[in-house]
Amino acid sequence: MSSYLGTETRHALRLLRASLVVGGIPVKVVTVPATVLAKHHKVPVEHAPFGDCLRRSDHWRIRLQRGVEDLAMRDTLEHEYAHALDEFLNGPATEPHRKSWGACVALCHQEIYGKLHDAR
Ligand SMILES: [Zn+2]
Repeated sequence: MSSYLGTETRHALRLLRASLVVGGIPVKVVTVPATVLAKHHKVPVEHAPFGDCLRRSDHWRIRLQRGVEDLAMRDTLEHEYAHALDEFLNGPATEPHRKSWGACVALCHQEIYGKLHDAR
């Protein structure tokens, strides 16, 4: 699993997990081929999303598109982690990118960038 994650993405995941715990529910991160994401979201493979976030019975499952460049994958991880955090803090979303999701993106972003230089 993590062997598919680049250095930046792995580092960001470590920071997010350490500080923004999503209700004690584990956030599992896997990489999947673009074809898997395209099929799930019913779009042509060239329009496959870079990732998604699914609620399972006992964990959150973030899927990141395999082969995406490390920094783009890190941004996608931030985007998807914010979905899990938003739903935990603010309940199920009818509009996925609601304002409270944006606030969660900001939290994730600060966590990653705020510690980027002193955590290494
Ligand atoms: Zn989204």
